[in-house]
Amino acid sequence: MSDDRTFVIIGASQAGGWVANTLRNEGFEGKVILLGEEPYLPYERPPLSKAALLGEVTVDSTYFWQQEALDEANIEVRLNTKATAIDREAKEVVIEGDDRIAYDKLAITTGARVRELPIDGAQLPGVFYLRTMEDTLAIREAVKEGSTAMIVGGGWIGLECAATLTKLGCKSVVVEALDRLCARAITPEISDWLLQFHLGNGVDIRLNTGVEKFEGDGKLERAVLAGGENIDCSIAVVGIGVIPNAEIAAEAGLDTDDGIVVDDHARTSDPDIFAAGDVANHPNDLLGRRLRLESYENAQNQGITAGKAMLDKAESYAEIPWFWSDQFDVNLQMIGVPENWDETATRGDPAKNEFVTFYLKNGVIDGAISINNPRDLRFGKRLMQANKTVSVADLSNPDIKMQALLKG
Ligand SMILES: Cc1cc2nc3c(=O)[nH]c(=O)nc-3n(C[C@H](O)[C@H](O)[C@H](O)COP(=O)(O)OP(=O)(O)OC[C@H]3O[C@@H](n4cnc5c(N)ncnc54)[C@H](O)[C@@H]3O)c2cc1C
Repeated sequence: MSDDRTFVIIGASQAGGWVANTLRNEGFEGKVILLGEEPYLPYERPPLSKAALLGEVTVDSTYFWQQEALDEANIEVRLNTKATAIDREAKEVVIEGDDRIAYDKLAITTGARVRELPIDGAQLPGVFYLRTMEDTLAIREAVKEGSTAMIVGGGWIGLECAATLTKLGCKSVVVEALDRLCARAITPEISDWLLQFHLGNGVDIRLNTGVEKFEGDGKLERAVLAGGENIDCSIAVVGIGVIPNAEIAAEAGLDTDDGIVVDDHARTSDPDIFAAGDVANHPNDLLGRRLRLESYENAQNQGITAGKAMLDKAESYAEIPWFWSDQFDVNLQMIGVPENWDETATRGDPAKNEFVTFYLKNGVIDGAISINNPRDLRFGKRLMQANKTVSVADLSNPDIKMQALLKG
């Protein structure tokens, strides 16, 4: 049976790509149009600060779907196409140049953009941000072995960048305004572990400080830190967080609050408009609150939920958040958003760079962080999902298998 409806998706990246593919996987036969501002097919961002920055992968290999697969699925991808407004009354998306595309249903997967550093010299050539493939290619081009790279921000992007640029032969200097690394995301002990780990790998880290200005004659030559210290550097990468691209939704009158407000089916305050990924502020029953996640798994799975909801195949999106990061030879993984825990249990040996720390609230796992131990973390996730009561003594005891705790 033919379907003459058109479903439009604004934002041709991970979440948007999954919306489009889910529509097809679920049998939608109408028109699917994916609008993307960037010049590339939907690509994976995690390699941007890792393998792609190291130069180990090609641009094409980061694509979620090659052009042939998108053609085969009859997904129309319009690249270099920015949506500028949503006319909800006419049910049209306005694109740059004032063309309009009519939609029956619309998904907004516009992700997030970098927060800019409002200091003198931030516009100098040599000062970079890291969000897009273009950013990675530009940084790679500018990296000089043996020179100093200044990293502003000791969060995930900053630390991954510090590790990768060190591997490329740079001296990486990280400045972080707060008193510990990744303070928004992880617990103080893991921040401290990360600090020692990076120092041990030759990264220079300065906490409780910031860059006051960048200086140079036509290009970046030095960073002046708060307090006056000058650090000569040839490049700087700023990683101080992102801002959700929710303006297009807010201007169209949709509810927004740190992102586009959606329900557990990725529905916005307009029944014909959906949102998913980094831009979506959603409720999570397991955590008992709303949140906006900036993670790979969320972009994929919430995109799938949105695609199904557009076809009225509503499926509640409630997953335990999961995130990973790779830095030097360490794979860090995190489940949940640990907060207000009353006990912790560590399994493994932090000194050997292989352990998991569990955070418990009333005897139940509330979150966990693993360093080079994804297996125990996976079992921890199952314990968390099952809401199982476990003791610190059992969790910390390497002689008791995690599987046994699930059965117990
Ligand atoms: C360098 C880097 C490393 C990362 N590493 C990890 C990791 O190790 N582990 C992990 O879990 N997560 C990681 N992430 C996070 C993960 O990649 C993101 O959560 C994910 O990309 C979000 O996908 P998204 O589709 O929601 O948004 P985005 O990827 O931000 O995509 C949104 C797209 O919409 C486009 N767009 C915006 N506005 C418009 C408009 N008006 N018209 C048309 N197009 C528009 C944008 O150009 C962009 O292409 C990393 C992110 C970065 C940047």
